[in-house]
Amino acid sequence: MSPTTPTYDVIVIGLGGMGSAAAHHLSARGARVLGLERYGPVHRHGSSHGGSRVTRQSYFEDPAYVPLLLRAYELYEQVERDTGREIALLCGGVMVGRPDGRVVSGARLSAETWGLPHEMLDAREIRRRFPTLTPRDDEVALYEERAGLVRPENTVAAHLQLATRQGAELRFEEPVVRWEPCGGGVRVHTPEDAYTAGQLVICPGAWAPGLLADLGVPFTIERQVMYWFQPTGGVGPFLPERHPIYVWEDAAGVQVYGFPAIDGPDLGAKVAFFRRGTVCTPDTIDRTVHAHEVAAMADHMSRQVPLLPGRLLKAVTCMYTTTPDEHFVIARHPAHPESVTVACGFSGHGFKFVPVVGEIVADLALDGTTAHPVGLFDPRRITGPLDAAAAAAPA
Ligand SMILES: Cc1cc2nc3c(=O)[nH]c(=O)nc-3n(C[C@H](O)[C@H](O)[C@H](O)COP(=O)(O)OP(=O)(O)OC[C@H]3O[C@@H](n4cnc5c(N)ncnc54)[C@H](O)[C@@H]3O)c2cc1C
Repeated sequence: MSPTTPTYDVIVIGLGGMGSAAAHHLSARGARVLGLERYGPVHRHGSSHGGSRVTRQSYFEDPAYVPLLLRAYELYEQVERDTGREIALLCGGVMVGRPDGRVVSGARLSAETWGLPHEMLDAREIRRRFPTLTPRDDEVALYEERAGLVRPENTVAAHLQLATRQGAELRFEEPVVRWEPCGGGVRVHTPEDAYTAGQLVICPGAWAPGLLADLGVPFTIERQVMYWFQPTGGVGPFLPERHPIYVWEDAAGVQVYGFPAIDGPDLGAKVAFFRRGTVCTPDTIDRTVHAHEVAAMADHMSRQVPLLPGRLLKAVTCMYTTTPDEHFVIARHPAHPESVTVACGFSGHGFKFVPVVGEIVADLALDGTTAHPVGLFDPRRITGPLDAAAAAAPA
């Protein structure tokens, strides 16, 4: 096959959260897309499983994310319409903590900067409206009606379905072992074959340190645990009609987030620590959840949502891919700006952005630029400007 006539317009490596959305948006624009995935469709080995992900707009991490969230909400609705799958459940959400803590003050800054509908609740009002939550007297909450959750497995399945419908070729159980620039495009190698394309999109999740070593970003892969508890007295008070999602920062800065009981009594309600993981790799991650971890979670929740930690029903591990400043990496690859786009380092808060990341990646791969505000996600904020010698070196 001549390197000047690549078989595909775009190859997408990794068909998890971000890669499946990229394959959808690229194929929707008429690109000939090949998607390559190490595992089967919708798996639980990476970062996009576990039944629910928090979504919220008053974004405490940085107001720069808000325009992307507004677009992600529109796109989630569109994917639901186009596939008939249930993805988003906007049951409302509270960001709880001390008024000057990062979660409350940051959420408030985003809400005020962008004029997002929200209410500030004092501790008494939190207890009155949401009786399962027992804040301390010095804690407050930002309540947001448009917060809630999205379903990760349904999202990935929907994007894969749309991509396939639009003619994308998706190959599963076929890991990419290496890739290299070739004739103005790229060549990608798997144990089965080698494929060429004009453009490469890399959405590797926790495999970023291997596949994107030449990006120079020091990613930390973290093992995280999700816990499902059967609340004392049953799921009644935790049903989504009356229970919000919550992100709760205590006086020591420890953050947890939790969900209503969305899957009936058998699965109870899910809760997890935000960013309290242990360093791992996809090969070494300990998938066993230990009794002392369950005890620590139950002990923590006994102060904030005391009915929740009745009995543990299930606990599952998952990985974060964290950058030094916890902001994403979405950009043309600085060493291969003509042909490679990367979307990685989602630092434990990427899922709510999945559809808009797909749209941005399609912009970057097909047009070389995007109208979305992505300056915050340039990897050179971490690595510094690319040095010319490194740029000339092969991948
Ligand atoms: C416990 C937990 C809770 C979270 N909670 C939230 C939340 O509430 N809200 C929120 O917004 N975000 C949340 N996140 C973060 C969010 O889920 C992630 O940011 C998002 O899923 C990352 O998607 P991804 O596509 O980068 O990774 P993945 O979905 O893991 O996809 C990467 C894919 O690349 C494939 N791959 C890797 N290497 C190769 C290769 N060599 N060849 C072929 N395929 C390859 C992998 O198999 C995988 O399918 C949470 C994450 C975890 C783990």
